[in-house]
Amino acid sequence: METVSLIKAEYDGASMARAVQAHFDALHLEELFSPGMRVVLKLNLLMRRAPEAATTTHPALIKAIVERIQAFGVTDITLADSPGGPYTKAALEGIYRTCGIEQVARETGAKLNFDLTHVDKTCGGKMVKSFPLIRPVAEADVVVNVAKLKTHCMTLLSGGVKNLFGCIPGLTKPEFHCRFPEPEQFCSMLVDLSQLVSPQVTFVDAVDAMEGDGPSGGSPVHCGVTLCARSVWALDVVHCAILGVEPEQVLTVKEAIRRGLSPAGMEEICLVGEPQALAAMPPFVPPRTKKTDFSSQLPRLLRPAASWAVRRAAARPVIRRSRCVGCGKCAESCPAHTIEVRDKKAYIRYQNCQKCYCCHEMCPVKAIGVSRLFAFKL
Ligand code: SF4
Ligand code: SF4
Repeated sequence: METVSLIKAEYDGASMARAVQAHFDALHLEELFSPGMRVVLKLNLLMRRAPEAATTTHPALIKAIVERIQAFGVTDITLADSPGGPYTKAALEGIYRTCGIEQVARETGAKLNFDLTHVDKTCGGKMVKSFPLIRPVAEADVVVNVAKLKTHCMTLLSGGVKNLFGCIPGLTKPEFHCRFPEPEQFCSMLVDLSQLVSPQVTFVDAVDAMEGDGPSGGSPVHCGVTLCARSVWALDVVHCAILGVEPEQVLTVKEAIRRGLSPAGMEEICLVGEPQALAAMPPFVPPRTKKTDFSSQLPRLLRPAASWAVRRAAARPVIRRSRCVGCGKCAESCPAHTIEVRDKKAYIRYQNCQKCYCCHEMCPVKAIGVSRLFAFKL
C-alpha cells in the first residue's frame, strides 16, 4: 500500500520547516539524499505571478525543502521549471523575481536554472517514445517534484503528474497539445512523461490552493495543508479526494490506474500525518469547462461519444476585450495558431480551436474566460 503524508501548514518559516520535517520522517526521505549528488526541484512557475495569487509553488515551501535537503550534505541543488510561454533567460528572470524564487536562492544558496538547453530522452511510452526534457531535470540524480494543487480547465486537476509537463521546454509544450488534441490522448501522454521523469518524491503546496477556472484564472482557496509522497500516482488520488471528484474523472489518474501504476482509490492508500484535516475540507468549485461533462454518469459504452459531444458543444475560450491588453501571450501559446492580435485586441478563429485552454491559462490579466453556453450541471 502506498503512503501519502498530509501535514497542516501555513506560509511562515517555522510552520513550513515543521511540515517538511514531518514529511521526511514519515516517508524516510533521508534515504534519498547524500553529499555529492545533483538534486533538482521541479517547481510550478506557470507564469509571472506573486505567491499570494496561488498560481505558483509558494517560496516558503521551496525554502523549507531546500534547507532540509542541505542538512544531508547536498550542495548541488537547482530550482527549475519551464513555465508557460518562451523559455528564455529574460522570461525566467522575471518569473523567478516575481514568484519569490530569486529570494529563496539568495537565502539558501540553491541555484536558479538558466540553462535553456534540453536533452532528448527515449522511453517506452504508450503515446510517445521520446521527450525533450529541460537539462537540469534530465541530468539530476534526484528529481524532487514540488507542485501546486489547482483545478485545471483541461485536465481537471493540476497536481503531481500535471506539474511534470513543465519538464518540456518552452514552446515545445504547445506542440504536444497539437499532437494530442483530445484530453484522453493528452493525459495518456502525461502519464508517459511522468513514467520517464519518475520523480523520487513529490511535495505539494495546498496551503492556498486554487479552485474554479484553474490553473491561472481561478480563485485561491485556503486548505492549510502540504502533502508529500514517493508515488506521484498515489498523491494525485489523494488530490482527487481533496477536490471532491472521483479518480475516474481525472484522466491522468484514470490512465495511471488502468496501467497498474496507481492505487484505484483512497482505500488503497495509507494516509499518514494529520489525515483528519482532509475531512474538514469542502469540495472545490470545479472549472466551468467541467460543469458540462456529465459523461461519467452515463452507461460506460456511451461515455466516449458523450464526452466527445460535450467537448465540441461547450466551454470555448472567450476573449473579454475590455480587459485584453494585446500582449499576444495567448497567441504565442496557442497550438492551433488560431489567435491573432489586431489593434491591440486578441481574436480567436474558432473553427480550428482545440479547446486546450492554453490561451486561458497564459493570459496574464484574466482576459480570457470560458463560455458557459451549455454549463448546466446534472
Ligand atoms: S487575451 Fe490576454 S494574453 Fe491574449 S493578447 Fe489579450 S491580454 Fe494578452
Ligand atoms: S484558441 Fe485557446 S483553447 Fe483554442 S486551440 Fe488556441 S490556445 Fe487552445
